[in-house]
Amino acid sequence: MIKVDHLMKRYGSNYAVNDISFEIGKGEIVGLLGPNGAGKSTTMNILTGFLSMSGGTVLIDGVNILENPMEAKKKIGFLPEQPPLYQDMTVEEFMHFVYELKGCTLPEAEHIDGILATVKLTDVKKRLIRNLSKGYRQRVGIAQALVGNPEIIIFDEPTVGLDPKQILEVRNLLRSLAKEHTVILSTHILQEVQSVCERVIIINHGKIIADEKTEDITRTIEDGYQYQAKIAAPSGEVIKALGAIAGVKSVIPTGERDGDAAAYLIESERGIDIRKPVFFVCAENKWPMIGLMPVSTDLESVFIRLVDKSDGGNLKVLKKH
Ligand code: ADP
Ligand code: MG
Repeated sequence: MIKVDHLMKRYGSNYAVNDISFEIGKGEIVGLLGPNGAGKSTTMNILTGFLSMSGGTVLIDGVNILENPMEAKKKIGFLPEQPPLYQDMTVEEFMHFVYELKGCTLPEAEHIDGILATVKLTDVKKRLIRNLSKGYRQRVGIAQALVGNPEIIIFDEPTVGLDPKQILEVRNLLRSLAKEHTVILSTHILQEVQSVCERVIIINHGKIIADEKTEDITRTIEDGYQYQAKIAAPSGEVIKALGAIAGVKSVIPTGERDGDAAAYLIESERGIDIRKPVFFVCAENKWPMIGLMPVSTDLESVFIRLVDKSDGGNLKVLKKH
């Protein structure tokens, strides 16, 4: 459905995108994951024909985006990082405007009403866009991307700036869209990819450093899972007893205290769930454990695990499936 071959984008002497290649099949839901400045928006803007490339090719369902941009763009619904919304239009007016702009031929009123219902904007359709909250405006951005029922949906950081409830709503919407569309979304949040995408392409400094099934990435980064435990007991004994549990790699006091309990960082070996034995050891010793929480892996530590620094400082690309 999407074929990107040796894509390059140069700004002066810097490469925002440096030789990226990947293919995305029909019906896939793929996350483009990377920190700020990685090249996610640049890649997406090129895929959607909003930005020119310095080298390489992009085929959208077999159509070259450079040679036939109109035809290629028709197949794509795009939510840019900063969606261009007309502040002085109502939601409904804006949707009709986009409908005209895209030269859409689906039954107009029915199609637009359907989209507004899908993204839960029906109640505010007569409101001016300028008067909507950030969450609602983001939904208008999503709604305009769905006009014309495009086969491919490309969303650049769709949940940035939303509150937790809105984030869950947008993620649910993405999952439901993925049933009938090919979806690419970019994010700098690992958990977003883990909760929504089947496949993740990780980019950093304009290069792909991993292209894997999400479950495989999750396994790689959870190699050595970490928990934080808060236990009210003599520190030396806790370290000794928990350290003796099979599968526990290390027990390190963090220095943090919670009442009479001290916090410990417990690292386990891959694939071993140490939570029950940790509980039982504390119970047998009558040590009150007032907390046991997984320590979530942030993107930073993912990179440390994925990037092989020994390789002359170069990024090591993980094997592809
Ligand atoms: P991301 O979306 O992953 O945060 P971007 O694609 O926006 O990253 O940016 C990638 C790199 O390209 C960054 O280093 C950014 O500073 C640079 N860049 C993006 N747009 C421009 C531009 N118009 N001119 C010069 N440099 C740019
Ligand atoms: Mg961006």
